Amino acid sequence: MAYTVSKLTDYSAAALEKAAAECLRACADESAGVGSDAELKTFRDRWVGRKSGMLTQINDLWLKGAPKNAKREAGIRVNELKTRIQELVERARVVHVDSASAAGERVDISLPGVHRPIGAEHPVIKTSREMVAIFQRLGYSVAEGPVVETDYYNFESLNFPPNHPARDTQDTLFIAGQQAKAQRDRLLLRTHTSPVQIRTMEKMRPPIRIVIPGIVHRNDPPDASHSPMFHQIEGLAVDTNITFGDLKGTLDHAMKEFFGSSVKTSFRPSFFPFTEPSAELFISCIICGGSGKRGPDDAPCRPCKKTGWIEILGCGMVDPNVFEFVKDNGYDPKKVSGFAFGMGADRIALLKYGVDDLQLFFQGDVRFLRQFA
Ligand SMILES: [Zn+2]
Repeated sequence: MAYTVSKLTDYSAAALEKAAAECLRACADESAGVGSDAELKTFRDRWVGRKSGMLTQINDLWLKGAPKNAKREAGIRVNELKTRIQELVERARVVHVDSASAAGERVDISLPGVHRPIGAEHPVIKTSREMVAIFQRLGYSVAEGPVVETDYYNFESLNFPPNHPARDTQDTLFIAGQQAKAQRDRLLLRTHTSPVQIRTMEKMRPPIRIVIPGIVHRNDPPDASHSPMFHQIEGLAVDTNITFGDLKGTLDHAMKEFFGSSVKTSFRPSFFPFTEPSAELFISCIICGGSGKRGPDDAPCRPCKKTGWIEILGCGMVDPNVFEFVKDNGYDPKKVSGFAFGMGADRIALLKYGVDDLQLFFQGDVRFLRQFA
């Protein structure tokens, strides 16, 4: 008669041993009878089938039915049994395949193997890594931080006091149910990678040079140039006597490294709460070479809007108010100075690869992504 799993009433070691041995013997006997493909399938389904295979039944009848004090012992025993049965099933399969191939029936070794295409780096990640590598070669180290941040790190410590209008420029996605907390402890999805600047300065004393790649979120509906999720790369250098000249030299070098030595840079005044003075960095248009026109008939160049210049990043000298938040760790604004910059890796990837719709990067269409592999 075919073996069936029966309920256990006696959970003593001897009884468990006996039940397990009986079960194993049945499994081994049945495995010996496997001849055809169909029999192998029936055998496997009967013993390791997920729905009502013997292993599932053993789990239900022996383990779940075990009294509390015998649960541990029964669990160990059942696990051993499971391993042994899985071995028997696997052995039956191997023996079956061997005998089939020995009979010259089944395996055609000239058939191509299973093709697993090798993945490639996403163009945005690739761009980000290339940019980060430029700064690493300048002696910067990479810093990272959490994507879910507190209001304090994302805003307050970066000189965006509560109710400051500059907060409105970063349409923020807040985590729900935080009202009971003090404002500075409320959680949100970071709108920039800048919180990592403060987090790093809290941990490391000056001098520091860090570059921070990472994902950020803003409540922007997706379109050709916006996405609610995007990638930033920030940098921060703090030491004694860091000047705006250092900022210009560093970024001019980085842009030439990345876009080619013929690229020109231009700094124009701007405003960010955490830097003073602040600037936007423009590079000469890499599409039209700065002429604003393209092609033989002088068509207007779209990426630079005919101006010959493309805005690439925001930067500036770290505002002394920011240092006040980490003053105790050696960042006395009277003694140290520094510069910071931040750019969008997605936007730079658009420019670099001449893609005109940001959404293409995030739709996961392999036909599009394959071009960059
Ligand atoms: Zn142009």
